[in-house]
Amino acid sequence: MRYNLSDLKTVRAILEKHGFSFSKSLGQNFLINPNVCPAMAEEAVASGEDGVLEVGPGIGVLTAELCARAKKVVAVELDRRLLPVLSETLGDFDNVEIVSGDVLKLDLHALLREKFADCRKVTVCANLPYYITSPVIMKLLEEKLPVESIVVMVQKEAADRLCAEVGSREAGAVTVAVQYYAAARALFKVGRGSFVPSPKVDSAVIRLDIRKNAAFAPADETFFFRMVRAAFAQRRKTALNGISAGLALPKETVAAALQSAGLPADVRAEKLTMEQLCRLSDMLLESDEE
Ligand code: SAM
Repeated sequence: MRYNLSDLKTVRAILEKHGFSFSKSLGQNFLINPNVCPAMAEEAVASGEDGVLEVGPGIGVLTAELCARAKKVVAVELDRRLLPVLSETLGDFDNVEIVSGDVLKLDLHALLREKFADCRKVTVCANLPYYITSPVIMKLLEEKLPVESIVVMVQKEAADRLCAEVGSREAGAVTVAVQYYAAARALFKVGRGSFVPSPKVDSAVIRLDIRKNAAFAPADETFFFRMVRAAFAQRRKTALNGISAGLALPKETVAAALQSAGLPADVRAEKLTMEQLCRLSDMLLESDEE
């Protein structure tokens, strides 16, 4: 039997039947706006040969839309109480597998290898729990998983930050990190009334298209990200002070690197483009090695 999982009465009846109560700490706000999940699934699945990894299926409202379009859907859910619910709501689909576990602890390379061997490509699609938005996105990107794109719902403020232009006021260390690995763009806003229970904030769906080749390549990626975190750590400070404090480097060393990179001594991190950040990281590394 196919359930209408966007219908509040149906959702309440299923949850009541299974004695389920929402857990705030697991970020459980389930989508009930009937337009959102089809739109997300359309973005995430380009062909019936694709595999989709979903994080946090909840009661399966997005999962069902993905199953209707993809070859295979694997959904990782931490809350074991939802497993019997999902068996019921997704019972009609034979192309779905629920993996019980914490997405942050799973070996996703092994999971993808094992589950999607027969898929043309793999994408990620999810309505992410707010409390782990950045860690999940960064895990997906930093582990360099063989996925082509990530279509996720996040808090509106997080969407603005993740999709900001590097070198603009809205950018932070996470903006640089995400855009190093992917081209990011905001797709559409989703109001708080689209969920049950309704959260205190609005959301937005964003799309990250993973870059096959990095647009800029610093000599040492690990050092580059350490420097970026330090530069953005205290937003009111100059990049010089932030980097010097965060990396325990003498101010003269950082000042000399800024000069070699052709950057003003009092520049703030938010003014720096990706190319300038890469150049600065390379200059600092050179001076560190001397
Ligand atoms: N996809 C459903 C929807 O759109 O209605 C539910 C989204 S709800 C915002 C987030 C889901 O992620 C919940 O089902 C929650 O139990 C699950 N979750 C929370 N932390 C998780 C984790 N670390 N690993 C996997 N799933 C998690």
